[in-house]
Amino acid sequence: MSHIGVYPGSFDPFTVGHMDVLLHAVSLFETVQVGVLRNSAKSPVFTTEERVTMIERVIEAEKLSSVRVASFDGLLVDYAASIGAKYIIRGLRAITDFEYEFQIAALNRRLNRDICTVYFMASPEHSFLSSSAVREIGAMGGSIEGLVPPSIEKTIAERLTNQ
Ligand code: ADP
Repeated sequence: MSHIGVYPGSFDPFTVGHMDVLLHAVSLFETVQVGVLRNSAKSPVFTTEERVTMIERVIEAEKLSSVRVASFDGLLVDYAASIGAKYIIRGLRAITDFEYEFQIAALNRRLNRDICTVYFMASPEHSFLSSSAVREIGAMGGSIEGLVPPSIEKTIAERLTNQ
């Protein structure tokens, strides 16, 4: 049976914490579709195209042959159904993530009972890491080495210092 998992998020930008979740998903699912949220209420710093292109670069650099990336908008469960994914993949860092994720998962379940959400716990060394922390450090000229995948570090650092 072929299982597809969709890993949705803002990825503004993609971090080593996201990578961690992605690698766990790769070991479980035949295909993992990273879904970059297009119309995020968060008004992202990186454009949708930039976020997709950076993830493409990570996929290539890390040779993740079972991973695809695309942007989407609209309801996540509709997007998942359209690509044949029965599982939504999310990461959990802290109790605060849990409350939000619990609510979203319950709503998604209501919208489509055939699709369920699976979670991976953040590694302890990444539990503090968020895209917003990377944006703040980068914008102030701090080093983001080790916080984002090496293949996109320079692009992110340059973009954040020049914004
Ligand atoms: P969203 O705006 O949908 O929350 P994010 O890009 O912030 O998008 O996060 C996408 C998913 O990755 C979320 O499930 C989030 O909890 C998870 N995630 C983010 N950072 C980490 C991390 N450091 N470790 C584990 N999971 C993470």
